[in-house]
Amino acid sequence: MNSKYRPPIVAVMGHIDHGKTTLLDRIRNAHVAQKESGGITQHISSYQTEVKLKSGKSGLITFIDTPGHAAFCAMRTRGANLTDLVVLVISATDGVMLQTKECIAQIKKANLPVIIALTKYDLETRQPEMVKGQLVEMDLTPEEYGGQVAIVPVSAKTGAGIDELLELILLNAEIMELKDESESPLEAVVVESKLDTARGPVAAVIVKKGILKLGDQIFTENISGKVKALFDSSGKSIKEAGPSTPVEILGFEKVPYVGAMITNNPLETPHDASLPITNIPTNPDLPHLNVVIKADTEGTLEALKNSLSDDVNLIYTGVGPVNDNDVIAAKTSHAELFAFNVPVSKTIKNLADNEKVPIFESKIIYEIIENIQAQVLKMLDPTIEDTIVGEGTIIAEFKIEKVRIAGIKITKGEMTKGDPVHLMREGKIIKNTQIEGIRQGKDIVEKIKVGHDCGMTFRPYIDFKINDVIIAYKNSK
Ligand code: GDP
Repeated sequence: MNSKYRPPIVAVMGHIDHGKTTLLDRIRNAHVAQKESGGITQHISSYQTEVKLKSGKSGLITFIDTPGHAAFCAMRTRGANLTDLVVLVISATDGVMLQTKECIAQIKKANLPVIIALTKYDLETRQPEMVKGQLVEMDLTPEEYGGQVAIVPVSAKTGAGIDELLELILLNAEIMELKDESESPLEAVVVESKLDTARGPVAAVIVKKGILKLGDQIFTENISGKVKALFDSSGKSIKEAGPSTPVEILGFEKVPYVGAMITNNPLETPHDASLPITNIPTNPDLPHLNVVIKADTEGTLEALKNSLSDDVNLIYTGVGPVNDNDVIAAKTSHAELFAFNVPVSKTIKNLADNEKVPIFESKIIYEIIENIQAQVLKMLDPTIEDTIVGEGTIIAEFKIEKVRIAGIKITKGEMTKGDPVHLMREGKIIKNTQIEGIRQGKDIVEKIKVGHDCGMTFRPYIDFKINDVIIAYKNSK
């Protein structure tokens, strides 16, 4: 590659099980997939790989390997300005799924170019035309239909299509003319960080501009450090790293935040963007589940936080083993403690037992998320302490200036603006919110009674569907 240009930084995303890990494995010829708990990739990791194509073309590509679970989609927003291009993995047999849609929303928000890898193409059950139709619906019209989006059928199993995918990435990089700014002052972004008991704070970063060197003074937000050791993505000790290179740094005083920018000059670093440890609920009248979360890395913590619903109130979150402070914080705020992939010692377990603080531990991220959401549903059960004042069914949906409005038939009682409501789907409460406004025909009204139809909006926003049931209640607590 011409040294005037730097390698492209490519984020790979997609719905869980659509084949992202297998595809990346095939590209780097490693076998990470088998090592992971529960079979899903749990950490962001990034690596650079040199590709040599049959066409004679060769070049370096930096991949940000992001795990398949929806939780991790959110993490991308912070690192989005690091990414030059996205490869969106979609299984040719399953097509666009929930997490695919979430990823597409993020890609559009960040205005990033995208290549679709249509994976598992070797399977007889592939339905490429169906997938392309879905993409058209989502405003990602394939090139062959006159749109802009390149779709590459691939099979990580047979290797078919992978050369074409890599070639297209390199071609896109050439067109983008990604300038190598190694002469500029250092800018690097943290993509992963953790506290290692033996080595202290460890940060995986990707250099954007300048050269990161051994011995450098480094600054990020409120944290400083000196680069004591640098490792490339194969774990080899190196002395310096230029633009687009992923490296691991030892030498920070404290664990830096994922998404934080690293510079050589404290004045150029955005000052204290420290994340709030307490999340004030959007509406204090609605019930919230208080939780304390400890996780193994900033990356997973961030992902966990981003995947929880609005009904969850984060009292305190942190990285590292569960300690007595966490238990006390949970006790004083009547919170439950969740430990993701971190040790909980016997002493701490005894303390939690004595203080009656429930601790839920897991090494699998979606188990933690599911458990928290299950507790939320329990908390939202209206039959215990609520008096139901009205019920209605969503029979239509409208959009006025991008606002989704639910067309509701009131089947019981009445509903008033400001009432807390449960959203019920297939007999289960899936969310609670509040009535923001009611419209009857063209009129804005305060109240609506049984037998009438109306348009309703909610705050906080809920992703309602036709046939969902809305239950308005008064909290009798
Ligand atoms: P991820 O969750 O998106 O990282 O998905 P994985 O890479 O873990 O793949 C999920 C499953 O699909 C695994 O059982 C893979 O063996 C299988 N798989 C992935 N790619 C292919 C492919 O190209 N062809 C076939 N037949 N199976 C695949």
